[in-house]
Amino acid sequence: MDKSNVYDVAVIGAGSAGLQAAQTLGRMHRSSVVFSTDRYRNDPTGHMHNFLGHDGAPPAELRTAARKDAEAYADVTFREAGVTRISGELDDFVIEVAGEEPVRARRVLLATGVRDTLPDVPGIEENFGDLVAHCPFCHGHEYAGTRVGILGSAPHVAAMASMLGPIAAEIVVLSNGEDLDEATVANLERLGVPVAAQPVRVVRREGDGLVVELDGAEPIALGGMLVKTDWEQSTPFADQLDLERSAMDAVIVDAFGRTSVPGVYAAGDMAQGPGLPMPMASVLAAAAAGMMAAAACVQDAALERITL
Ligand SMILES: Cc1cc2nc3c(=O)[nH]c(=O)nc-3n(C[C@H](O)[C@H](O)[C@H](O)COP(=O)(O)OP(=O)(O)OC[C@H]3O[C@@H](n4cnc5c(N)ncnc54)[C@H](O)[C@@H]3O)c2cc1C
Repeated sequence: MDKSNVYDVAVIGAGSAGLQAAQTLGRMHRSSVVFSTDRYRNDPTGHMHNFLGHDGAPPAELRTAARKDAEAYADVTFREAGVTRISGELDDFVIEVAGEEPVRARRVLLATGVRDTLPDVPGIEENFGDLVAHCPFCHGHEYAGTRVGILGSAPHVAAMASMLGPIAAEIVVLSNGEDLDEATVANLERLGVPVAAQPVRVVRREGDGLVVELDGAEPIALGGMLVKTDWEQSTPFADQLDLERSAMDAVIVDAFGRTSVPGVYAAGDMAQGPGLPMPMASVLAAAAAGMMAAAACVQDAALERITL
């Protein structure tokens, strides 16, 4: 192993969390290596919303600018390589890299994001990130004034319908042949939202919108559709490092991005901060969390050297 490569911090991931962490570390002259496989959660979409100064911009545009910012700092090194394994402890982590020599770092900042699995309905995947979305904050406004479909039968459909009320002209829940529980039925009735209970055969694009073909019922035209994705950690590092996880399998962090293991920090979609019901998955929240975790790396290392 090349012992000259002992970085202050290894940042794994160069989405908005990892890129902002890199900038913060670079500005504080901490040597860092940033790994990325160039795959991002928002790859399916061409437009990013709800980010100050960049509303509607292509996500890659922000990443290119952010990477340029971080590369301007001499202590930041980028590596286009997949990390396969992380082991070790505070001040001596070993980061194994596919097809390359391992590197060592005193601290590790995980920013590897999550992976989505979409509902198994033909046509959803092709339209995901555009006419089909999972997040009303990211893509709800784009469906304003149209009939919006909410695919699903779990209780979240009522909360989603309530949230979309002021945006959509009409809302319909597509339960895809599944039963809704009593409370959800009552909530939807209170909101005046109808349910199409028939199984969905296919969702297809027509003009500016979607057409949902149902078994045994007339097709429904929509301006957009909200779906719930199942997500999982995109890497095994939380397992390898034995990090504490929430019920949703997010890595539990404090307000500074510290995990349950000293020297390991986490930021972005993979991590869940205090008081939050889930990881607050957004580009802006991920960038802010990356900054906080990088600041904690700097501060924790600095405080080790002095007596308060
Ligand atoms: C369709 C869609 C649309 C969205 N639209 C919006 C929107 O409009 N506005 C908004 O705020 N949010 C949006 N989001 C959410 C947004 O994409 C995420 O919140 C954000 O990307 C999280 O950033 P991150 O840095 O945590 O992870 P990511 O951006 O997913 O980055 C993960 C990084 O980890 C790296 N990585 C993974 N595994 C390895 C490995 N083994 N070795 C090395 N590197 C690795 C990847 O290469 C990548 O660099 C959308 C999400 C989806 C799915």
